[in-house]
Amino acid sequence: MNATRAKSRNAPVGPSPFAVEAAPLPRDKFSDPLLTAKGEQRASVPLEKLDTLWLNTGTLCNLACATCYIESSPTNDALVYLSRAHAAGYLAEAKGMGTREIGFTGGEPFMNPDMLGMLEDALGGGFEALVLTNAMKPMRRHEAALLGLHERHGDRLTLRVSLDHHSREVHEGERGQRSWEPAIEGLRWLSENGFSIAVAGRLLPEEGEPAARDSYAALFECEGIAIDARDPARLVLFPEMDEEKDIAEITTECWGILGKSPSDIMCASSRMVVHRKGEASPRVVACTLIPYDDGFDLGETLAEASGDVPLNHPHCARFCVLGGASCSA
Ligand code: SF4
Ligand code: SF4
Repeated sequence: MNATRAKSRNAPVGPSPFAVEAAPLPRDKFSDPLLTAKGEQRASVPLEKLDTLWLNTGTLCNLACATCYIESSPTNDALVYLSRAHAAGYLAEAKGMGTREIGFTGGEPFMNPDMLGMLEDALGGGFEALVLTNAMKPMRRHEAALLGLHERHGDRLTLRVSLDHHSREVHEGERGQRSWEPAIEGLRWLSENGFSIAVAGRLLPEEGEPAARDSYAALFECEGIAIDARDPARLVLFPEMDEEKDIAEITTECWGILGKSPSDIMCASSRMVVHRKGEASPRVVACTLIPYDDGFDLGETLAEASGDVPLNHPHCARFCVLGGASCSA
């Protein structure tokens, strides 16, 4: 965590409990979009259909988690608040492309003053909406508006709450002191009010997925949270990411070797809009995971951003291809 983030109130004090154990990444890897360090042809992913359009609402967050991939904190506005007017242009373009779902991610989306307006526009426009939130105070300020959206749009609105672990100790090791109780209370409020909800969690290095699902199930039962922890769409357990640690590069041969298809990878079906500080208008990047790398900035419009994506980043390998993860529901 950088110095500014570490100074944030309640920021975690020690190393992340989810730290990736691996050698440092050699510098010649992920340096050429066409070829790997061994000179093999790098894999790329064509956009098949823009099923999910992510709107990054801005990097400001009420937390400063130890391994936040987007480096959010109460002071980091590297991605500024996306405006409702800018979002509306992308919603209109996505409508013409047959997009099903609008995802909202941050930072903490409910810190953006236009968040409820953008959500209203997305749901009113006939899209499904998925909001990634920590369910803490910024979300709780909008209870009345959220209840209204739920009444009008039902399960087309899903809120996915980050609960990094089923234990308070590990969750707070990553997210900072006093981050557990408010998240549980927010999740319980959503559940009691019948919202479509999901949880995003993580696995400790030695923790197997079945055991983790059992422990989350026990927690949900104890807290009265109506989530089936065995349903991978309702409890999403993410693989870890660390762009500074060594990982294999993905070549065109890997699809056959791994028994995977480019269609399985999330940049085959999604893009993300970001508004970087100092830029007049938003840009479209390949995915939710790589907002700052010029190589993944694909253009200003969704049409411009519809080309193939070379898998030229450690996250492509560790999270998507080898980890098998997708940010969408
Ligand atoms: S709550 Fe999410 S966006 Fe905010 S610092 Fe933690 S991981 Fe990052
Ligand atoms: S991180 Fe994943 S979704 Fe993003 S560009 Fe790489 S393979 Fe695609």
